Amino acid sequence: MDNITASEIAGLAVGVLLLSATIAAPKIDTFFSSSQRSSLGLCKRCGNVRRTACAKCKGTGTIKEGGLLSFNLVDDLYETIGNRESQVKKIACDKCQAKGYFPCPECSKL
Ligand SMILES: [Zn+2]
Ligand SMILES: [Zn+2]
Repeated sequence: MDNITASEIAGLAVGVLLLSATIAAPKIDTFFSSSQRSSLGLCKRCGNVRRTACAKCKGTGTIKEGGLLSFNLVDDLYETIGNRESQVKKIACDKCQAKGYFPCPECSKL
């Protein structure tokens, strides 16, 4: 194994380069799509939708009364048996005034 030539070493180096380029590709892609958006004049935060979903109600505009303790399980049960007028009331989200979204802080001020 003493006969490794310069071209073999070069080939190995190219192989390593290609491999690391493949590994880095997703990151490069993310970087480009972000810079692409700004070069196209699109908002980096919302992509020109001009709104961001409310974190409290997950964009639905309503939250279930009773908070975290009674969520999902009871509601799913009632929905399963077809009684949508369930005891779990849905109330308007007070954080977003039941809109389900906020104006995007990045571009709504333009
Ligand atoms: Zn909300
Ligand atoms: Zn925006």
